[in-house]
Amino acid sequence: MGFIRGKVVKTVKNAPLNDPIEYAIMGYEVSLRRREAAFVEIVSLQEASDIVGVSGELQEVVEEFAKHWKGRDKNINVALVGNPNAGKTTFFNYVSGSSERVGNYGGVTVEAKEAHFRFGGYRFNVVDLPGTYSLSAYSNEERFVREYIMNNAPDVIINIVDASNLERNLYLSTQLIDMDIKGIIALNMYDELERSGAQFDYRKLGQMIGMPILPTVAAKGKGVKELLQEVIEVYEGRSEYVRHVHIHYGHDVEEGIVAIRAGLEKEKDLVAGISPRFLALKLLERDAEALRLIARGREHERLNQTCREQTARIEALYGEPVEAVVTDAKYGFISGALKETYLEPMVDKHRTTRYIDSLLTHKLLGIPLFLLFLFVTFYSTFAIGKYPMAWIEAGVSALGNQIDTHMAGGMLKDLLIGGIIDGVGGVIVFLPNILILFLFISFMEDTGYMARAAFIMDKLMHKIGLHGKSFIPLIMGFGCNVPAIMATRMLENRNDRLLTILINPFMSCSARLPVYTLFVGAFFPTYSAVILFGIYLSGIVAAVVMGKLFKKILFYKEEAPFVMELPPYRLPTARTTLRHMWHKGKQYLKKMGGIIMIASILIWALGYFPVPEERQAAYVQQREEIARQEQLDKESREELLAESHRQERFERQATSYIGRIGKSLEPIWAPLGLDWRAGVSILTGVAAKEVVVSTMSLLYIGEEIETEKESNDRLSQRLKSFYSPSVAILFMLFILLYSPCFAAIIAVSKEVGWKWGLFVMGYTTALAWGACYLLKTIQGWFV
Ligand code: GDP
Ligand code: MG
Repeated sequence: MGFIRGKVVKTVKNAPLNDPIEYAIMGYEVSLRRREAAFVEIVSLQEASDIVGVSGELQEVVEEFAKHWKGRDKNINVALVGNPNAGKTTFFNYVSGSSERVGNYGGVTVEAKEAHFRFGGYRFNVVDLPGTYSLSAYSNEERFVREYIMNNAPDVIINIVDASNLERNLYLSTQLIDMDIKGIIALNMYDELERSGAQFDYRKLGQMIGMPILPTVAAKGKGVKELLQEVIEVYEGRSEYVRHVHIHYGHDVEEGIVAIRAGLEKEKDLVAGISPRFLALKLLERDAEALRLIARGREHERLNQTCREQTARIEALYGEPVEAVVTDAKYGFISGALKETYLEPMVDKHRTTRYIDSLLTHKLLGIPLFLLFLFVTFYSTFAIGKYPMAWIEAGVSALGNQIDTHMAGGMLKDLLIGGIIDGVGGVIVFLPNILILFLFISFMEDTGYMARAAFIMDKLMHKIGLHGKSFIPLIMGFGCNVPAIMATRMLENRNDRLLTILINPFMSCSARLPVYTLFVGAFFPTYSAVILFGIYLSGIVAAVVMGKLFKKILFYKEEAPFVMELPPYRLPTARTTLRHMWHKGKQYLKKMGGIIMIASILIWALGYFPVPEERQAAYVQQREEIARQEQLDKESREELLAESHRQERFERQATSYIGRIGKSLEPIWAPLGLDWRAGVSILTGVAAKEVVVSTMSLLYIGEEIETEKESNDRLSQRLKSFYSPSVAILFMLFILLYSPCFAAIIAVSKEVGWKWGLFVMGYTTALAWGACYLLKTIQGWFV
């Protein structure tokens, strides 16, 4: 209704039933129902004077109070738009204090992230949109961003531009100009522009294109305040730069625009809020979305006819699609604008990058170096990780012991120690390993090496019918398959996406790592890194083989040509990299807090019930008898007692629900040489891979807590008494290959449909079984 804060409200009169009430406000007398009036926020005179710290005359307080609220709490909706890798997410994180993933390659941001903060007396709602090079509706990102801008009409768009790559980045800006939005350009990576020695009169360019341009260094937060201040100016219509500019597309195109705009006049209600010039241009380009928009119009046949005629006319004149003509004109506009404002640096600005690239993407050295980096990553994960791991283990078992000694026996105690502490503790223990792995992955992303890895792998990826771009989701799979599966959205072609998703589970996710560390540590302590590396490599081999197979059977069509981005190398600040590492680690912990806790308790319960009271009594009796046997010395008596306890525990496990389920599936595990305990652990791993180790510790070492030893050590010892090294290898292979966790299955289903989700679950498990059976057979030849 146009009411604003800081005005005096007076009650004029009440209706007989106290509803509605008539108020006098801002010179109006309005009658509001109580329900509506509830939206009007009121403070008393006393409260008002407390807020502004002025006491005295009514008039005085009211004036102060009005001043206090002037401009306060206005909402500004801001959207961040820009090329991949221009620093949108860095900017977003800086202003919102959040820690979204940032990566030095395209396609990490696949959804819009939103945050709110206050600045300069305004409430900012910022949205971080996916990176795009243009707003033509070819890729998912482009469509998404364009629709977002059209449907949500943000108050101000911040176009984040990579200053070290102006020409290409400004292309998107020209499309924003066409759309006639209220915008502002953040000239990000200004530090790099300065370092390169280039001179850029951005103020002048801002005046030329009718949008304020301000330098920022998002990674360090420089210039961000000034930029936000200017956003306010733009929002309030006070900015001296803002002006609507037409990019001139040449006489022929302009003529087409005029003709179509005349037709659009009659469809006003359809195109409300969209710049008619922009829409006309898109119609000339035969843009699918634009055509769909006008298809609902009343006279759409006539309009369509006009569009077709105009497009045909222009294309006949130029001998190429309208889009190409327009693109040329845009680049002409940009280079013209830059010629007047931008002075090339004397030195080669990308010299360092080129120098490093000549080594890292070398024909012969590239792949070995890449493998070396991977090896170092995994080696460090294991070798450095074992120290903090030992501390955490000690802490967890100390906690268990504390509870054991201070708490009265019973089911709750059993649940606490056996289900919760052992289960969750078994997972926390691996947090250091996972953080180290994430640290390396984040570093590779932030420096730009990840993009090179995609580049190096391109040829190899082509061999399995994918391209280098698919490599990024695949390598992200080493962290967690869920974001990796979501990251496949950056692939334009559906078949490429599907194929990448199908083989992604073989990229052994970090949640499987605890299983490997446990087995490798127990069975192959001397060759830990080599074996670990081998496992990951086997996953890659499986992916390649299956990829090739799927390509042959399911999708044999040609893949789309694509551009591969190679951003300049950047040394990320420790803060950014650590932040990214932590962000990923946090996701791991979140998963643990929820699913794993529930799964752990469920599994504990399945192992705890049914309580065999008769058998318990029998064991108690047996122990009483042992205690009575006078002829035994103290030592052997204690040994017998301990043996009785152990016997009881194992018998109990075998008769528990979980034991029965695992045993009934014995025919599946037996041919692989695995027992029911291993089988049960594999089953529970479908809930979440982290649960495998905690299940094992429940099933193999029971709920006993020994003071002098750490739980993992005990588990290792116990496993060694059960298995041979060859079975250990086989088990790890099964864990590597079989069905990914529920979260990943759900991610697949969301991306490409339930059928594919179930397919992934089934085929990976079948493959795991088959591969293990084969391995077992081969092992048999050598024994
Ligand atoms: P987005 O794809 O647009 O979201 O870009 P990101 O926010 O992921 O940033 C890409 C990379 O550029 C990251 O490695 C950032 O750390 C880095 N970066 C961001 N802003 C700046 C900046 O102003 N200067 C420099 N030197 N690097 C930056
Ligand atoms: Mg981003």
